[in-house]
Amino acid sequence: MAEYFNIVEEIATGIVATAAPEIDKKGLFPQLTIDALRDAGLLGLISARDMGGMGEGPRAAAMVVERFARECGSTAMILCMHFAAAGVVEKYGSEEVRRQFAEGKHLGTLAFSETGSRSYFWAPVGTAVRGEHDIYLNGKKSWVTSAHHATLYVWSSKPIAAKGASTLWLVPRNSRGISAPDSFDGLGLRGNDSTPVTADDVRVSENNMLGKDGEGLTIMLDTVLPLFNVMTAAAGIGLMEGATTAACKHASDTCYEHLDSVLCDLPTIRAYLARMRIATDQTRCLWLDTLDAIETNREDAMLRVLECKAAAGESATQVLDTAMRVCGGAAFRREVGVERRFRDARAGTVMAPTTDQLYDFIGKTICGLPIF
Ligand SMILES: Cc1cc2nc3c(=O)[nH]c(=O)nc-3n(C[C@H](O)[C@H](O)[C@H](O)COP(=O)(O)OP(=O)(O)OC[C@H]3O[C@@H](n4cnc5c(N)ncnc54)[C@H](O)[C@@H]3O)c2cc1C
Repeated sequence: MAEYFNIVEEIATGIVATAAPEIDKKGLFPQLTIDALRDAGLLGLISARDMGGMGEGPRAAAMVVERFARECGSTAMILCMHFAAAGVVEKYGSEEVRRQFAEGKHLGTLAFSETGSRSYFWAPVGTAVRGEHDIYLNGKKSWVTSAHHATLYVWSSKPIAAKGASTLWLVPRNSRGISAPDSFDGLGLRGNDSTPVTADDVRVSENNMLGKDGEGLTIMLDTVLPLFNVMTAAAGIGLMEGATTAACKHASDTCYEHLDSVLCDLPTIRAYLARMRIATDQTRCLWLDTLDAIETNREDAMLRVLECKAAAGESATQVLDTAMRVCGGAAFRREVGVERRFRDARAGTVMAPTTDQLYDFIGKTICGLPIF
């Protein structure tokens, strides 16, 4: 294991684990953790070494997300969005912005989903119009993680003039015309500050374009999708891992005094725990194989990328449902730590590409049909 992982472990078991219940209860953004990650250089984990970053790739990002997700789903999702944005910046950003990302001067996020096209994140209806000197962006994003805390959004719009579905931009959060009025009060991932964001004639330089006009879909598919899917899968696996550990502990520690036995003396409970373990390990194997496929440019890499997010999203909801049953009425209380993960795990299935969209994409792929 790389040396930086000791620091990841220390932060995960320290501030992340300690703060997770409060972050969930009050919907707080985990700023202390983000500061600790910045101080440790970990916000620059996948930025190139010659820019001052740690020079790691999707595997490292996914491992870090998985480790944090065991303790706190919100923190894991914030990091997932940051690394997804960092991956785009690393490939298409200017040297100046790449260096700033590498040095941890930015917290990034993706601003793709729109109220007009909803989970069809690849089809923005917001516009980019060329003015006399600059570009003017208008659009209504439906969900942006870290909306009030990210310093830079990777923003999608329709192309200015080119053919194609979209164009990507770097938009500073403090740009005039950006507004994110509401705080997030959701079912799960309650600390991830995921709110709508509106751009009202936001002026950006043409230099803020990432890639070429009309190239957005290609960047989304080639750069964002593999990274994002292995990281959201990682979040699901971390949540399953955390829940399995918590459920085993609860089953071992919970006594029936009148019978002089503990909960895990019941074969049914042990069988449920076994099924949770198997589902977690199966998903982990598929996820690790996906990382191998990406790294070795395997022919089935894209299929694996699609599969691993769908599998992790669905397994996580099932495993967490089982964890609720194993821990019984006690699971309804916050202190067992299962109901928080139960709520957090549900987001993975509806975050785009949603499980249902992925089923459609996978079905098309294995029937030899084009995805789009
Ligand atoms: C906690 C959280 C954080 C998020 N953070 C971000 C972020 O940082 N950036 C960002 O860009 N977005 C983000 N999103 C948005 C997310 O990626 C999706 O766009 C959003 O969840 C879609 O929800 P919807 O109800 O609007 O989708 P809808 O399109 O209304 O979908 C409703 C249902 O219909 C199903 N459906 C839609 N199309 C098909 C189809 N073709 N076949 C089968 N079923 C289909 C969907 O699977 C879903 O179950 C976030 C979402 C959540 C929940």
